[in-house]
Amino acid sequence: RKAVIEQVFSRMNDRQREAVFQTEGPLLVLAGAGSGKTTVLIHRIINILRFGHGYDSPYATPGATMEDLAFLADYTADPKPENQARAMELCAVSPAKPWEVVAITFTNKAARELQDRLTRAVGEADASAIWAYTFHTCCLRILRRDIERLGYNRTFTIYDEDDKKRVITDLIRRLKLDEKIFDARKVMGEISRAKDNLITPRTFALEQRSEFYMGRIADLYTLYEKEMRENNALDFDDIIMKTVQLLQDNPDILEHYQRKFRYVLVDEYQDTNHAQYVLTSLLAGGYQNICVVGDDDQSIYKFRGATITNILEFEKQFKNARTIRLEQNYRSTNTILDAANGLIRNNVNRKGKELWTKQEGGSKIKLHRSDTQESEAQYIAARILEGVAKGCKWSDFAILYRNNVLSNAVESAFRRNSIPYRIYKGRDFFSRAEIRDMFAYLWVIENPSDTLRLKRIINVPARKIGARSVEIAEELAAQHNTMLYDIVSHADAYSELGRGAAAMKRFGDMMQELRDMQQTASLSELYDAMLDLSGYQEALENKNDMESRSRLENIMELKSNIVEYENKAEDPSLAGFLEEMALYTDADQDEEEDDTVLMMTMHSAKGLEFPTVFLCGMEDGLFPSFRADESDEDLEEERRLCYVAITRAKQQLYLTCAERRLMYGQTRYARPSRFLQEIPAELLDSNLTERARQAEAEQAQKKAYRPRSTVNQSYRSASALQSSMTTSSVPTFACGDRVMHKAFGEGMITSVKPMGGDQLLEIAFTAKGTKRLMAKSASQFMH
Ligand code: ATP
Ligand code: MG
Repeated sequence: RKAVIEQVFSRMNDRQREAVFQTEGPLLVLAGAGSGKTTVLIHRIINILRFGHGYDSPYATPGATMEDLAFLADYTADPKPENQARAMELCAVSPAKPWEVVAITFTNKAARELQDRLTRAVGEADASAIWAYTFHTCCLRILRRDIERLGYNRTFTIYDEDDKKRVITDLIRRLKLDEKIFDARKVMGEISRAKDNLITPRTFALEQRSEFYMGRIADLYTLYEKEMRENNALDFDDIIMKTVQLLQDNPDILEHYQRKFRYVLVDEYQDTNHAQYVLTSLLAGGYQNICVVGDDDQSIYKFRGATITNILEFEKQFKNARTIRLEQNYRSTNTILDAANGLIRNNVNRKGKELWTKQEGGSKIKLHRSDTQESEAQYIAARILEGVAKGCKWSDFAILYRNNVLSNAVESAFRRNSIPYRIYKGRDFFSRAEIRDMFAYLWVIENPSDTLRLKRIINVPARKIGARSVEIAEELAAQHNTMLYDIVSHADAYSELGRGAAAMKRFGDMMQELRDMQQTASLSELYDAMLDLSGYQEALENKNDMESRSRLENIMELKSNIVEYENKAEDPSLAGFLEEMALYTDADQDEEEDDTVLMMTMHSAKGLEFPTVFLCGMEDGLFPSFRADESDEDLEEERRLCYVAITRAKQQLYLTCAERRLMYGQTRYARPSRFLQEIPAELLDSNLTERARQAEAEQAQKKAYRPRSTVNQSYRSASALQSSMTTSSVPTFACGDRVMHKAFGEGMITSVKPMGGDQLLEIAFTAKGTKRLMAKSASQFMH
């Protein structure tokens, strides 16, 4: 048996194995990036399911006598072979059932990865019974079962940030507060923080009574809570907070889960907030078999209420906790690790640990400063094309940036060079008006008390229900102590509604028909019926302009999401679909098998790894952001983010920045990020010094010819000079030319169009199909 176990976990190092076999009791795995924390977490689950305890677990079976314990202590100190059998028996813990395990991660992507790896290890049936979820999914499962105890209905709705903003803005107006002082976003932030810390409106009001501003926030929080209850809606913070409340207020429910979950595991523990910490300790409260893995240096969600204290104080929070540190990094080359170590060493507030790797050397980190964001982007594109020409896949490359706006220049460079890329842009798709409309219909079908959404769609498409009629209906709802939906569906019974009544009734009947359909029809049938009966599709088709056509396309795209969900889900339901979509966040886009370059924010890259990583926009003011100047704490958080970003790279890291950058309509001149100086210089292969020399030469020239030129002019002249140089060096292309491209191979030019001092080429490549390339940038790769 020991041999079998050894074999299964043979790839792990000693420390990792210790963590795998230490199945009982609280355990913290505290370790740097790429040291195999997530890998350990997965292997622990495999071990728990297949073997129970590890053969060298120092924990005795429940019911062991004092004598047994003494024997074990002796054995641990001096493991005599003849005592091994008894020791093993004493430590024996039976393998767990899959439903006794809950493993929590932060992104859906990470959860899916976990599920996939578990499926491969223990098979489909067992893997699907494990709760390998994000915090939110886990809580939703708990809430769907018992939320009625909190006075909500099981068909509750989930509000995203935009919905939440509408409700809050409404309330601010209702209280006649100054919207400049009570900015909706700020108010949302305050409420969010309260919820992260499990502070109820009542407690909040008690604590904040004395001060005007916070006092009003307390009022808003109270009203917000009331409104949400009336709409039978939860926001993201509620999902966690209400679950904690449910467990705390209902001993029977708590006991159910405490008995159920023999093993609780949490990845990326450094990013948990207070509410999440309480939740995990409640779930693990029965068996106390809680294993959390994390890295204090990678804590990057303070702005969302994550508190590093959870990891720093784990040993205090859980009695008898054991801490295992992993120091060997398996991901990156020595150069990349040294850079990461060199950087993070500048943070004062940390536990302090260093990583090492067996992967000696590795090529130097390339630091490249360009004149403009365009040339920075072109530099990145060129390196990728070179790499692909040498045999790399597109998906070996990832571009990470601090801020989404930085992606634009890179995107256009990729388009110019026909580089296939995918971008994690988060919820953009979901914030389109037509998509929000679709979801509003679906949510109301699921949860008719969702008045916010009901109001959104009641007259979309236009069906002659005026704003005034809706107002009257709302007043009626308040008078009769019922929901707007009820008034609408019986509109003909209220003479107050006047002429609006008939249209309202028709709408109510239509919604009811859809709700009835839900019992029998499949989700995609329901969706089709909704598009049809609501008149939404027809209205767009009648308009038939560009805008409407693109909206129609988006609506159909959503249909494909539905179909995909139906194919994938075990037990597809409207609630399930809406839930999944509501939780869809930044890092969750489906990893199709497509071979493309990936672009995403540094935050979304957490936990991932890529052979080559580009960190672009490494400029003071962008990264670290201006905000970080205000406090050391913020600066340290930015530095941790930089540490996360650097440690995503396995073999090659590029750091790029631009001298000037057009952002939000303004050109900024920027110095290279101060983080770049914190990376030991000998690890860098940089063009900065060379540039400095060039600048000096330029300066000298300027002095000789035009003693009083302004900075701006000199820029213009420098770039003019440069562009004339490039134009002259670009060969001209003609239709019918045969070309050889480093990345795309052989091809023939099928069209040439002049475009902005450059040429747009259409080239039919023998192996890769037709691509459109800009001549200037393509020419370096073609002959
Ligand atoms: P992060 O802090 O970024 O989340 P992590 O500590 O979770 O990183 P993993 O993602 O688990 O690290 O592992 C990093 C890489 O090292 C993975 O490619 C993994 O397969 C590999 N790895 C982990 N342990 C070992 C090992 N013992 N032998 C070889 N490779 C390993
Ligand atoms: Mg990890």
